[in-house]
Amino acid sequence: MDNCTLCPRMCRASRPLTGTGSGFCGLPELPGICRADKHMWEEPDISGTKGSGTVFFSGCVLRCDFCQNSEISRFSCGKTVDAAGLADIFRQLESEGVHNINLVSPTPYYPVIKEALAIYKPSVPIVCNTSGYERVETLKELEGLIDIYLPDFKYSSSEAAAKYSAAADYPEVALEAIKEMIRQVGTPIHGEDGMMKKGVMIRHLILPDNIENSLGVLDMIADNFPQDIYVSLMAQYFPTGNEKHSELSRKITEEEYERVSSYMMLLGLENGYMQEHESADSSFVPDWNLL
Ligand code: SF4
Repeated sequence: MDNCTLCPRMCRASRPLTGTGSGFCGLPELPGICRADKHMWEEPDISGTKGSGTVFFSGCVLRCDFCQNSEISRFSCGKTVDAAGLADIFRQLESEGVHNINLVSPTPYYPVIKEALAIYKPSVPIVCNTSGYERVETLKELEGLIDIYLPDFKYSSSEAAAKYSAAADYPEVALEAIKEMIRQVGTPIHGEDGMMKKGVMIRHLILPDNIENSLGVLDMIADNFPQDIYVSLMAQYFPTGNEKHSELSRKITEEEYERVSSYMMLLGLENGYMQEHESADSSFVPDWNLL
């Protein structure tokens, strides 16, 4: 791939089929898959009782300093697949009875994913599980293929976005991206089994010593999206030991969690989930199949 402009970095980089690309993400055109398996730790209406069929793509366009999956998000790793190989993975996961196919960090690989879905479109919902740092133009290309968007909304503060993710434009970029996702699939629709079939659920991870950033994200959600939008407030941040920033070397406190969760209620954002404050530990990180 030449001239890559898939994500808001707009590197116009050259990305060889395999190996190392010259863009910010450093990723090649074909994805490395680090894990493809049933996952029980997503939100209850995504994982359900049978699990979410997660496909963890290697690499990331955002590369946050606090990444909880840094083992796979910094470079291409895992098993390299082409579109046919990816379609086979979708088919295999569906045959295991999962509730959905969950594409985790798919952004640099959308062209291959589109090709794979043209080869085989599972009958269960397709979930796009993204950092929220997306170009509207790229998302438009996915219209009709994605049933559920699970975007992060990480930052309202461009200072924090620049400091931790080298993406000062994140707040306005994510806002417009999520608007486009809502335009495509709307707010959540659930089936009789209680599982989400269609719609957008926004995730926000609370970071230590960044509570104003979290309150600002909730303000942006309340001010810009329908009141029945689903928000998943995540308290699972834990230090991995590689922190470049001293304030990130601890978990969030009970008081920080309370401030953010009570503000979410105050704004009337009553749909969605709040993770227990005690949930911050590395058990949320899967074992990677780095083939
Ligand atoms: S996907 Fe990678 S190469 Fe393409 S624009 Fe984004 S960071 Fe640059």
